Amino acid sequence: MQDGNTEFSGLGGALGDNLMALMCQARRGVVRCAALLLLYVSAAAAPQAAFAEVELRLMPGDSALDQQLSSYLADSQMVTDLVSLLSENFTFEQPLGIIVGSRSDTLGQPSYSRSDRSIRLPYAYLERAIRAQAELVAGSSPDQTVEQGESVKRAMDMVEYTLYHLLGHALIDDDSVDADEHAEAISTWLMLRAWSNGAAQWVEDVQAFADASQRLDGPLEDYWHAHALYRLREQTLLCWALGAGGNSIEPALRAVLDPAERRARCRKSWAMLDQQMRSLLDPVLKPDAQLRAAGHD
Ligand SMILES: [Zn+2]
Repeated sequence: MQDGNTEFSGLGGALGDNLMALMCQARRGVVRCAALLLLYVSAAAAPQAAFAEVELRLMPGDSALDQQLSSYLADSQMVTDLVSLLSENFTFEQPLGIIVGSRSDTLGQPSYSRSDRSIRLPYAYLERAIRAQAELVAGSSPDQTVEQGESVKRAMDMVEYTLYHLLGHALIDDDSVDADEHAEAISTWLMLRAWSNGAAQWVEDVQAFADASQRLDGPLEDYWHAHALYRLREQTLLCWALGAGGNSIEPALRAVLDPAERRARCRKSWAMLDQQMRSLLDPVLKPDAQLRAAGHD
């Protein structure tokens, strides 16, 4: 902790081995651990040239609450998964920064900033996401322990949705709200293309984020109001997941009158998205990127 990192600091020895083992069991399927490029930058250390694509900074938690939030994030492995996805598939002229944890800047809102080409995911956002999901979950279960676990799980889904959304903004280097539909398409494509169980995970992420967005009585300053995912867009994203993920996704979606028609339409819609995203991201994808290969469908 002395060097400005969280408990992740130091990749040598037993801690490093454990961390690698953990990352190899990432929740969205097997990642190629040997190729995993992971950089933990302390505030003082300069990034190493070999890891030029991503600079990950995990800021120390100021309080027991922040440390708890940081451990939820570590357990979900979403950040380490994202770093491996980026390092294996993308090549950037200027490294992309991912700054996790700070409470001091951006008023506690997650953001992508063009000026320093960095994605920020502050602890305050994790905290807000858990509170928002706790209100949504409340009442659905009489058991408070179950409620708490479910709120944290759904909050992490929401945070993952946000992280991939911001990555969408970063990949087209556009932080404006006008770029939201692009960011939604890119983030969806990445999740569905990159991970063998990406479709099932994306359905959870999208639904958790959309449920919070579509609440009419939440505070307006919440991030999910500015980047809201309304019903129609939610349906589009879920349709892509169905198109990519196949019939196993169907039970997680709302029933429709003609499921066969929906399946066919969504497969077509996903094939179109796949083609569009491949050409949009072509300039930043490595020549041998796995994302260029045929997918899981
Ligand atoms: Zn956005």
